[in-house]
Amino acid sequence: MYERGHFINGRATPGVSGRFSDIMDPTKGAVQGRAALASAKEVDEAVSSALGAFPVWSAINPQRRARVMFKFKELLEKDLDNLARMISSEHGKVLDDARGDVQRGLEVIEFACGIPHLQKGEYTESAGTGIDVYSMRQPLGVGVGITPFNFPAMIPMWMFGVAIACGNTFVCKPSERDPSAPLRLAELMLEAGAPEGVLNVVNGDKEAVDALIAHPGVSAVSFVGSSDIAQSIYTACAAQGKRVQAFGGAKNHLIVLPDADLENAANQLIGGAFGSAGERCMATPVAAPVGDETADRLIDLLKPRIEKLKVGHPFDDDSDVGPLVSRQHLERVRRYIDMGVEEGAELVIDGREMKLQGHEYGFYLGGSLFDRVTPDMTSYKDEIFGPVLQVVRAPDFDAAVKLPSDHQYGNGVSIFTRNGAAAREFAARVNVGMVGVNIPIPVPLSYYSFGGWKRSGFGDTNQHGPEGVRFWTKVKTVTQRWPQDVLESSYAMPVME
Ligand code: NAD
Repeated sequence: MYERGHFINGRATPGVSGRFSDIMDPTKGAVQGRAALASAKEVDEAVSSALGAFPVWSAINPQRRARVMFKFKELLEKDLDNLARMISSEHGKVLDDARGDVQRGLEVIEFACGIPHLQKGEYTESAGTGIDVYSMRQPLGVGVGITPFNFPAMIPMWMFGVAIACGNTFVCKPSERDPSAPLRLAELMLEAGAPEGVLNVVNGDKEAVDALIAHPGVSAVSFVGSSDIAQSIYTACAAQGKRVQAFGGAKNHLIVLPDADLENAANQLIGGAFGSAGERCMATPVAAPVGDETADRLIDLLKPRIEKLKVGHPFDDDSDVGPLVSRQHLERVRRYIDMGVEEGAELVIDGREMKLQGHEYGFYLGGSLFDRVTPDMTSYKDEIFGPVLQVVRAPDFDAAVKLPSDHQYGNGVSIFTRNGAAAREFAARVNVGMVGVNIPIPVPLSYYSFGGWKRSGFGDTNQHGPEGVRFWTKVKTVTQRWPQDVLESSYAMPVME
């Protein structure tokens, strides 16, 4: 049994609220530790620490801030396996996948190392007679990141990597289900040379989130999690005049056109649908083959692959997929499989009865495959977030564009085809934020920006890349003149001659 508290003002700090949340070992279904749940007082300490660090950190020149990020990147590389083990043991994802979680965050830090260039303003010499105009991007103050359980390293780094490089100080409120990796990231930032208070971590639940949003010292909030909470956080922050971006759930489709290489599509679909036990916002839980012949062939290729899926302990090199994160989540996913059957979809492979010998109490679930799912079914409309692949047969190309476009979520979508013109038309027409062509999980690289549409994203600025720099800075524009002579008064609106 271990306890995870907070990281405030450069120090590991135990929780004092008296409230805790269990940290589960998903392989055993047993409690392995507890996370402190911060009260408003502890939140205030973290925000005050970040406010205190802001004047110094924001005044440090960007090259020196970049050096801290470089050092942090080196420390992350050395600590990668340790971080991955922490993630696997609390989240349940297999080690290789957990390494990818750290690596994709590390890539955002690499992007943030370029901050001296990224944060440059613009300059126009002689915009009018003797007048120059320039703009600068200044940090906002204290930024807050509220993050989900499924990427405990990558998503905090999406946020604080860019925010801190831009000169902000930060309070991260990670998921209370897997708090160890975010706390370790804060230790490494301190070791990299970020002054005390630049990166704070408070563990907690709704109480901590509400206190962070209401705190007058907080300037901006970045949220990633489920859609209803994303929307409520977006609304609450906007009502208080705080800058906010809030990313929500997803239901990503993978469209398969009749001319696609079906073996390749099936291989990619398996990884996209079942990797991380389906607990990824960019997973591909819906396959939409075009035409019955494509659908029949695709299902024939999928069946043996799903049956061979190796569900096992996350530390076992042979495992493709580990357990789900919690008992409640396991039960929720099972209820959606029951619902799919009740709604009349055809359950081709049933993962519900899978038991892993020696780990009967773990939160394991086998892969499930549904055929003949239709858009009116609730099990199709909702996000399931588990190892369940639903096949929706699309009669033609237009229907395949319409399915993801009409869905309430609009995070990612992929098309598999050999036809460049069709892929190009699909990418242009589809009403979804991130598109893959023969790529199952089109997560943009760190120097592009990540963000979904519709109920997958509230706000207008995406994560990391150029949009991340825009979100974590405000623009100031200076118009200057250094006249040698006394100028006449003018009562007309000034215009550039
Ligand atoms: P969640 O919404 O339950 O929790 C997210 C964060 O909000 C956590 O830090 C949690 O402590 C906090 N929280 C929980 N309840 C709250 C409440 N009532 N008020 C305020 N804060 C609250 O999400 P989760 O289960 O941790 O993560 C899975 C969800 O996140 C899925 O819906 C998934 O699609 C989504 N997700 C989205 C993206 C994206 O970029 N769009 C990325 C990863 C995950």
